[in-house]
Amino acid sequence: MTSDFNELKKRLAEINALGAAASLLSWDQATYMPAKGAAARGRQMAVLREIAHERAIAPELGELLCRLESLESQLPRESFEASLIRVARRDYQRAIKIPSAFMAAFSEHTSSLYDAWSRARPESDFARLVPALERTVALSREYSAYFKSGGHVADPLIDFSDEGMTAATVSSLFASLRQGLVPLVRDIAAKQDINVAALKGRFDRSKQLAFGESVARAIGYDLTRGRQDLTRHPFMTKFSIDDVRITTRCREDDVTDSLFSTIHETGHALYEQGIDAAFEATPLACGTSIGVHESQSRLWENLVGRSRGFWEYFFPKLRNMFPQQLSGVSPEVFYRAINRVVPSLVRTDADEVTYNLHVMIRFDLELALLDGSLAVKDLPEAWNERYRSDLSIVPPNHAEGVLQDVHWYVDFIGGQFQGYAIGNILSAQFFNAAVRSQPSIPQDIASGRFDTLLTWLRTNIHRFGSQFTADEITRRATGESLSITPYLDYLRKKYGEIYGL
Ligand code: ZN
Repeated sequence: MTSDFNELKKRLAEINALGAAASLLSWDQATYMPAKGAAARGRQMAVLREIAHERAIAPELGELLCRLESLESQLPRESFEASLIRVARRDYQRAIKIPSAFMAAFSEHTSSLYDAWSRARPESDFARLVPALERTVALSREYSAYFKSGGHVADPLIDFSDEGMTAATVSSLFASLRQGLVPLVRDIAAKQDINVAALKGRFDRSKQLAFGESVARAIGYDLTRGRQDLTRHPFMTKFSIDDVRITTRCREDDVTDSLFSTIHETGHALYEQGIDAAFEATPLACGTSIGVHESQSRLWENLVGRSRGFWEYFFPKLRNMFPQQLSGVSPEVFYRAINRVVPSLVRTDADEVTYNLHVMIRFDLELALLDGSLAVKDLPEAWNERYRSDLSIVPPNHAEGVLQDVHWYVDFIGGQFQGYAIGNILSAQFFNAAVRSQPSIPQDIASGRFDTLLTWLRTNIHRFGSQFTADEITRRATGESLSITPYLDYLRKKYGEIYGL
C-alpha cells in the first residue's frame, strides 16, 4: 500500500513538473520573450501540455487510484494521504474525459490568440480577432460537452474554477449582490465627487516599482522565493511553493496604478507561498478555487491596502519617495482619493463599489456567447450596450472595452470571471473572521505589523492549498458558507463614512 502511495506521488510529481515547465514558458512569453518567438513558443507549450495530459490520463494512474481506495477509507478525510488520493481522483476523472489531442490543439490555439490579442489591443482592432475567438467559443463548447451536465453549457467551466457553483447559483448570487450595490452606487453618485489630483503627476517608474516591492515585502511576500517583473496584464504564477512570481504594470502619470496591482498580485502570491511545504509537487499545492484565490488578492488590495490604517503607516514613506509631488497632500486627502467611487471603463482600475458590476457584465456575456444567443462579431456592441446601461459610460475604443481583459484571449470562455466577485464577497467574510479572532489586526496594520493578519490567513486558509473545497475552507475559517452580508456591510460602512451618506 505504501509503495502504491509512493508511486502515486511520483506520477503526480511528474505531471506537476510538466505543468510548471509550461507555466514558466508562459511567464516568459508574457514578460521577456521577443515578439517573434510566439509561434515556436506556442508549439513548445502545446507539446508540454499534451505530454502532461497523457500522463494525467494514464490507465496505470487510474488503476493506482482504484487500489488506493481502501487506504483512503481507513484514513481520516483530513489526512494528507486521504486528501491527496481524493483530489488526484477528482482530477483524473475530469482529465480522462478530455482527449489529449484536444488539449494540444487548444493550447496551440490560445497561445497564438494571446499573441494576436497583444498586437490587436493597442490598435483597438477587435475585428481581426473574430475568427480566432469564434474558434475559442466552439472549443469551449466542445470542452463543456465532454462533461454532460444537463445544465447550462457554462456549468462545467464554472465548476472547474469555483467547485460547486453553476450558472444558476452564480446568477442568483449576482442578483442579490446587484440589489445591494445599485442603491449604493446611486447614493454615492448624488454626492460631491472626490478630487484625485493628488494621485496624478509624474512619478518615476523605477521609484514606483521599488516602493511597490517594499510594500510587498512588508506585508509578507518572500522575495527569496519570488520576484516581480513587468507585463501588460499583471498576474501571479507559480512553479513551486518556493518560486512564486508576480508581475505588474507601471504608469508614470499615476502613483497608485502599479502599487495596487502589486498588492493584489502579492495577495495571490502570499496564498501560494503559504501552502504546507509537505504538499509540494502534488495537486494539493495550489489555491483551492478562483474565488478563494481572489479573496486573498482583494483582501490585501482593498480591505488592507485601501484602509486608513494602512496609509497611516505607508503614506509618510510614499511622501519621502516623492517629496515634490506629495508635499502638499495630507494622508486624509490621499485616503479619500484612492477610494473615489466613479463608474469607469476598465475593470482592473475600478473602485470597490462598481467593480462587481464589471464582473457581472462579463459573466452574462460569457453565458450568452456559450449558449449561442450572442455571436462573437456582435460582442463589442453587446459589451458597449451593457456599459451604457449598467455604468452609464461607453468605451471610446475596444482597447478600453472588449479587448481590455486577457482572459477570453488566452483560455476558455466561461468560468473566467465569476470568481472575481466571489473573491470580493469572501474577502470581507475572511477579514471579519480574522478580526474576530485577533481584534488587534486593524491597529497592527496601522503600525506596519502585518504578521497578525498573515498568520491568521496562513493558519485558516493558505496552508490547506487544495486540500479542502472553497465551501469547506469558508465554513472552517468563518463558521458559515459564503454570505454577501459582511461584504455589503463593509462597503456601506466604509463608503457611507467617506461620502457622508
Ligand atoms: Zn487576481
